[in-house]
Amino acid sequence: MSLLVVGSVAFDSVETPTERHENVLGGSATFFSYAASFFTPVQLVAAVGEDWPAEHTKLLTDRGIDCSGLETVKGGKTFRWSGKYLPNMNDRETLEVHLNVLGGFDPKLTEAHRRSPFLFLANGSTTTQLSVLRQMTGATLRVADTMDLWIRTQHDQVLELLKEIDGIVMNDSEAKLLCEDENLVRAGHKVLEMGPKFVVIKKGEHGVMFFSKYETYVLPAFPTPDVVDPTGAGDSFAGGMMGYLAEQGNFEPATLKKAMAYGTLVASFNVEAFSLDRMKQITRADLERRMESYQRMLSF
Ligand code: AMP
Repeated sequence: MSLLVVGSVAFDSVETPTERHENVLGGSATFFSYAASFFTPVQLVAAVGEDWPAEHTKLLTDRGIDCSGLETVKGGKTFRWSGKYLPNMNDRETLEVHLNVLGGFDPKLTEAHRRSPFLFLANGSTTTQLSVLRQMTGATLRVADTMDLWIRTQHDQVLELLKEIDGIVMNDSEAKLLCEDENLVRAGHKVLEMGPKFVVIKKGEHGVMFFSKYETYVLPAFPTPDVVDPTGAGDSFAGGMMGYLAEQGNFEPATLKKAMAYGTLVASFNVEAFSLDRMKQITRADLERRMESYQRMLSF
């Protein structure tokens, strides 16, 4: 089934303790859509500036991602983000954010976008996320991501969003901030009470926690020793998760658990190189092989 994602498409500059890469392809919707395309057809809605190279769009369209909703803003510049990882490669500092075209981004969905049965609101302003959500006509599954910036600056809109979506994906620090609770299990249940049917809390190298009225569980990260650049781990996790759900066409508890595992595995590949470079090298067969060793690792 088709999956629509709305979010950022960016030029990222990323510094790790050993390397610095400037102006590489990034953005929440970029990582998400590439990751989801291992499983299902994806429609991308985002905005870029006139500085956007056609080769980046080609990379996505070659994966079967429908980029007809990728708007080029005349005279505009593409969103830019730069960040620096601490030696633990888990925590990062945002150095610079230039919203550029994202500042005035007010997507108008086409009829085909509105009818998509699966929707993911990737990281971006909560106001924009709400506007997109309200343009959709009867999506089966609506899931959103959020971040500390929006929890601090658009708090009421985040609470509104939580009432209108089926699932939310957030980082551990964001869940603690939103719930004013340092205990993640309590925080997960508190977010559930705010409206969504399920809550996914990402804990970086420590895996993910899942909360719904049926169950609470934790899945570990796949232990790859090659952590080169964690940027996009959360977005590629969400892409793998939503891509698998859209492929299966349901979000029953068993499907959701497997989707969480696929998300974990796509993210584990993504961190093995800068930008989308590692995802570009792998196929669905590589994901299936990693799934077999992940399942062996978890059975006892
Ligand atoms: P992740 O590592 O999964 O949190 O995602 C990192 C990606 O999110 C980078 O490629 C950034 O371009 C993008 N990003 C960072 N800050 C924002 C923001 N405020 N709005 C939208 N996208 C962002």
